[in-house]
Amino acid sequence: MSTADLAPGTRPSHKRPAHLPLRTCVGCRERRSKWEMIRLCRTGETMDLDPEGKAAGRGAYICAKMECWEAAKRRRALQRALRLPAGVPVPGRVAGLVAGMISNSTPETGWGPAQGPEEVLSRS
Ligand SMILES: [Zn+2]
Repeated sequence: MSTADLAPGTRPSHKRPAHLPLRTCVGCRERRSKWEMIRLCRTGETMDLDPEGKAAGRGAYICAKMECWEAAKRRRALQRALRLPAGVPVPGRVAGLVAGMISNSTPETGWGPAQGPEEVLSRS
C-alpha cells in the first residue's frame, strides 16, 4: 500500500499566497504593508525621501498619516531607525515632501513647510 495518496484539492505545487512585506511604522509602531507607507532612506549624513522605495541602504517607514510623521519627528525615531545622530534635523525639503504626500488625502490641514516647533533653530 502506498501512503502517497493526496487528499482531493491538495496540489503538490508550492504556490504560496502573495507575501506582503510588512514594515513597522517608526511613528506608531504598527505593522503594515510597505506599499501603504512612506519610505525614507539614509543618504550620507542625512536623510531623503525614497518615493519608489528602492534606494539602497538603511530605510525607515512611516504610515501616510500626519500623526505618525509628527510622532516620528518628535521622538527622533527617524534618526534612530536610520542610525543617524539624534541631532541631525529632518531636512525641510524632506519634511515638505512627506507632508505633501500625506496631505494629498487631507488637503485642509493648512500644513506649511518647515513650520513645526522642531524646526526652529535655537542656535545663536
Ligand atoms: Zn504609523
